[in-house]
Amino acid sequence: MELIGIYLLLCLPVGLLAQFYGRSAGGWFLLSIILSPLLVGIALLIAGRAQDRDRRRCPVCAEDIRLEAVKCRYCGADVAQNQAAPETAGEWLRRHRTDPPTP
Ligand SMILES: [Zn+2]
Repeated sequence: MELIGIYLLLCLPVGLLAQFYGRSAGGWFLLSIILSPLLVGIALLIAGRAQDRDRRRCPVCAEDIRLEAVKCRYCGADVAQNQAAPETAGEWLRRHRTDPPTP
């Protein structure tokens, strides 16, 4: 009975890792119970990294979106590849800063 508990404890990190990669935590947890937490963990590391390769960060809301996305699914911003990133607050301040008048 204790071995089953230890085995389930070994499967927990796989579920947590799956959640970290934005995948189904319950599904990967069950898969690690059926197969092996080590095998499924390695498969998840490979699959998770593969998914990261076709994603990028939205320049407006900083959520992860698909590489070929034209419009962000979270904030609705136009994020076409050839579009320049929007101006940051620091860049705007630098552009609009006027030196104080000298007496
Ligand atoms: Zn966005």
